Amino acid sequence: MSTEVDALVAVLVELVGDPSRVITNAPTVARLSRDFYWYSPVLKELLESKIADVVVQPTSVEEIQSVLRLCHARGVPVTVRGAGTGNYGQAIPLQGGVVLDLALFDQIESIDPDGVAVCQPGARLATIENEARRTGWELRCYPSTVVKASVGGFLGGGSGGIGSVAHGGLRDFGTVRAIEVVTMEVEPRVVKHEGEAVHEILHAWGTNGIISRIWLALTPSVEWAQCVVAFSSFDNAFDFSERIATDQHWQKRLVTTFEAPIASFFSPIKKFIAPEKANIFFMIAATQLSELEQAARHAGGEVMYGANYDGFRTAPLLSDYTWNHTTLWAIKADDTWTYLQCGFDPINARSQFAQLKEQYRDDFLFHLEFMKNGSGVVVPGSIPLVRFTTAERLNEMIDFCREIGVSVANPHVNHVEGGGRYRQDHIQLIAKRKYDPKGLLNPGKMASYQAAEAKQ
Ligand SMILES: Cc1cc2nc3c(=O)[nH]c(=O)nc-3n(C[C@H](O)[C@H](O)[C@H](O)COP(=O)(O)OP(=O)(O)OC[C@H]3O[C@@H](n4cnc5c(N)ncnc54)[C@H](O)[C@@H]3O)c2cc1C
Repeated sequence: MSTEVDALVAVLVELVGDPSRVITNAPTVARLSRDFYWYSPVLKELLESKIADVVVQPTSVEEIQSVLRLCHARGVPVTVRGAGTGNYGQAIPLQGGVVLDLALFDQIESIDPDGVAVCQPGARLATIENEARRTGWELRCYPSTVVKASVGGFLGGGSGGIGSVAHGGLRDFGTVRAIEVVTMEVEPRVVKHEGEAVHEILHAWGTNGIISRIWLALTPSVEWAQCVVAFSSFDNAFDFSERIATDQHWQKRLVTTFEAPIASFFSPIKKFIAPEKANIFFMIAATQLSELEQAARHAGGEVMYGANYDGFRTAPLLSDYTWNHTTLWAIKADDTWTYLQCGFDPINARSQFAQLKEQYRDDFLFHLEFMKNGSGVVVPGSIPLVRFTTAERLNEMIDFCREIGVSVANPHVNHVEGGGRYRQDHIQLIAKRKYDPKGLLNPGKMASYQAAEAKQ
C-alpha cells in the first residue's frame, strides 16, 4: 500500500471505530471489488484488473457521511456495493479508491400496514419478501438473485424480474415510493426523493448518490404454485405462454419460455423438464394450477411438473433458472454462450423470431421473460443466449436486432447509458452534477458525464 492509502486507512479506522470494518486484506479487497462482470466476455477482458485500495463497511448513515466527507476532501473515488451480483461490472471500482460495502447496513425498519417496506439499503431482498409475507404482503418484483441481492443494489443496478409480468419493472407504477440519498459534497447531505424524483437516482449505478433509506411498495401476498410445461415446437410454446401472460384471468408471477435446447443446461432439475423441447416455467396462483395444467394439455403441451410453492427453499426452485440465471446455467454448460437483453414488438414478435433464426440459426436461442411495460401492456422481453465468437460479431447481432425493430439494452458495456438507461431528459446527469460535483462516485460509469467533462 502507498503511504497515501495507509494514511486514508488510518483515518477510516478512526471514523468507523472498528478495524474489522475497514478491510485491506488483498484477497478480500479483490473479492469485494468484483461482481458478475465476467458474464460478458467483452467486460471480462476490460475489467479483470480493476481493484479498490480499501473496503469500508458502514453501519449507519452518519458513518456513510463521514466516509464521504473524508473521501471528498482527499479526492478519493468511492464505489458503493450491495451484494455484488450485478452483471455489467457496475460495482467494479475503475479508478481504485474506496469500495463502500453496505452489506452490514441491512435492517428492515418496518413493513407498514399500507404495504410499504422501509429498509436500509443492505437488506437482502429475500429477507424483505419473507418478512413482508408474515403480514400479508410480498415484493412486487425481484431479480432471480433475490437470495443474495440487496435492495439498494437492486435499485442502483437492477431492473425487474419475477413478478414483473404482473407489476412491471422496478421503475414502474410507483414501486419505489421514496429514497434517501447521501451526497458526495464538502458536507454530505441526506436528501429525500419522492415520487417521480426517484428516477434521478434509480439505476444510476451509484454514480450520483448513495441510497441510504428506501420506501418500497409491496403487493398483497398470494399462495403460489410452480408449473413446467413442454412443447415440441417453440412456436407453440410461445403461443401458449403469450396467451397466459397477456390474459388477465391468470394471476401469475413468472412466465418464462425457453427455446430448445436451453432447458438441457439446467442439470440439477433434469427430471422436471423436457431437455430437448421448448419449456415454459410458470409461477401461478395455487388456486389456478390445475386449470393451467388442463389448458396446457389442451394446447398440446406436456405438463412436466406442477406443485405448490413454499418460498425460496422450495425444490425445485424454478426462478433459479429464469431471468439472468438462465445465462449462468448456459455458461456453465458451454462457456461460448453469452447473452443480450432484448425487447420484442408484441405485434411483430413472430416475424422478428423468424428473421433472427434465418440470420443466426442455433447461435441465437430464445429465452423470453414476459413483463408488463410502463403502459400496462404485457410484452415479450427476452434475454436470448447468443454464441460468442468476437466482439465485432456480437455488435453485428445487436445492430441486426435493432434494424428489425428489436430493442437491445447492451449488457456488454460498462456505463449507465449503454445498458439501456439513456435518458433524454438527463435527470441522472443533472443529479450527478448536483450531488457529486467532483465526479468521485463510481467514476467512469456515467458516459454522458465523462463526455461533458472531456469537452470542458
Ligand atoms: C445470475 C444472475 C441473475 C440476475 N438476474 C437479474 C434479474 O432477474 N433482474 C435484475 O434486475 N437483475 C438481475 N441480475 C443483476 C443483479 O443481480 C441485480 O440487479 C441485483 O438486484 C443487484 O443487487 P446487488 O445487491 O448485488 O447490487 P450490486 O451488484 O452490489 O450493485 C449494483 C449497482 O448498484 C449500485 N449500488 C449498490 N448499492 C447502492 C446504493 N446503496 N446506492 C446507490 N447505488 C448502489 C452499485 O454501485 C452497482 O452499480 C442478475 C445477475 C446475475 C449474476
